[in-house]
Amino acid sequence: MTKPESAAQDDAAQDDAAHGDAGREDAAHDYDVVISGASLAGSAAAILLARRGVRVALLERRSDPAAYKVLCTHSITANAHPVLDELGLVPALEKAGALHNDARWYTRWGWIEPRAAAGGPELPYGYNIRRSVLDPLIRARAAETPGVDLLLGHQVTGLIREAGRIAGVRASTPQGERELRARLVVGADGKDSAVAELAGMPSRQFENTRFGYLAHFRDLPLHGGIGQTWFLEPDMAYAFPNDDGVTVLAVLPDKKRLPAFREDLEGSFLDFVRALPEAPPIDSAERVSKIIGAVNYPLRSRKPTAPGVALIGDAALTGDPLWGVGCGWALESATWLTEAVAPAAAGGGDLDKALAAYARRHGRLQGHQRLAVDFAKARPFNPVERLIFSAAARDESLARHMHLFQSRLIGPLRFLNPAIVAKAALVNLKHRRTAAARSA
Ligand SMILES: Cc1cc2nc3c(=O)[nH]c(=O)nc-3n(C[C@H](O)[C@H](O)[C@H](O)COP(=O)(O)OP(=O)(O)OC[C@H]3O[C@@H](n4cnc5c(N)ncnc54)[C@H](O)[C@@H]3O)c2cc1C
Repeated sequence: MTKPESAAQDDAAQDDAAHGDAGREDAAHDYDVVISGASLAGSAAAILLARRGVRVALLERRSDPAAYKVLCTHSITANAHPVLDELGLVPALEKAGALHNDARWYTRWGWIEPRAAAGGPELPYGYNIRRSVLDPLIRARAAETPGVDLLLGHQVTGLIREAGRIAGVRASTPQGERELRARLVVGADGKDSAVAELAGMPSRQFENTRFGYLAHFRDLPLHGGIGQTWFLEPDMAYAFPNDDGVTVLAVLPDKKRLPAFREDLEGSFLDFVRALPEAPPIDSAERVSKIIGAVNYPLRSRKPTAPGVALIGDAALTGDPLWGVGCGWALESATWLTEAVAPAAAGGGDLDKALAAYARRHGRLQGHQRLAVDFAKARPFNPVERLIFSAAARDESLARHMHLFQSRLIGPLRFLNPAIVAKAALVNLKHRRTAAARSA
């Protein structure tokens, strides 16, 4: 697509009359918004913003339009379903073989198996779909959206500052350095966000005391044909069926085990899987990828806005991969940003106020992050987790409640509300009484 070089002079002049200081610096912008990173968050934001009349440059450092994130287990939580729907991607995903992300979770009290209530609505679902399919699909959708210029091979290497705010980016491209000016720069460039670093946005990092390895297999059937997660306190594992008959298996042991694990990576990986309760039949499966992993993957939270800048996806918040929630939040944060800033980014409002509104909405993820940070200490379940997980393994409605939380459709406060804690206590009391009566 062609680039509208400095085509916005007239619009910008009007903005100057209509808006505050945030609009006054826009006299020479090339685009309304420049986005760094054309993966899930960046591509989604580009599509959604452009549909609202915002002119977007979507910069991606990689040149291959089919590039994708390899280090992922490809399970997208149900909170992202409305976004995928809004993007118009659901039919294409289903055609590409995406599977509903139904799953069951092993605990020492048995399996938690969320199911729809008899006669009740279907449980909300997301999708399991490999990033090799999803990433090119959403990027192509962005490229064909009027108002989006996808600029591949463009790596953001610097920021333009004017009057105390960010007013654009410098990018290295195959043709040399290039400057792009915009009202708003969006960092959708992942956990090591160049935009966040260059803008000096404050961040907090938290240790993750588990490491992870994953591999793809064929001919690896799973119980019920659905995803399985093992809470082994403190180790974790999961297996997700994906498109095209591929099953992704991941193990996330306590870091104390890393030196021994690495001595024989393949042997350790296979032994770990063989030892799982109701282990998938790994010895008769075919491994179709390398075993890849991350041995140091800290969690990170950044302040998601600064004057002229917003962060979305992993750039704003990198969670613990073990919860499989980063893709969902990458997509959701793209919609939150769009809803907050689209009019102002197009020149019709106060951009700073709009950014503040986005930051408030994004702030809701901090409660989730606090729980994840604590769980990343590779500790056994704490008393509240013991109460809720044990009761959810015994009670269908609590299993559904856990499903809503794992789908990030409810936050920690609703997940652990007093009525749920009381119900879990009652379920466990009844269970103990029944067990005692049986043994008597
Ligand atoms: C082992 C592992 C397993 C995971 N499993 C799951 C899972 O099952 N489910 C789930 O929801 N999440 C999972 N995640 C997390 C998920 O992968 C991320 O949350 C998600 O990819 C974030 O998307 P994003 O668009 O914010 O960033 P990314 O997907 O990281 O994309 C960033 C993009 O920015 C580009 N870029 C970077 N720097 C620049 C620059 N300077 N200029 C231009 N472009 C740039 C990159 O090339 C890339 O395209 C997992 C993560 C790990 C590590």
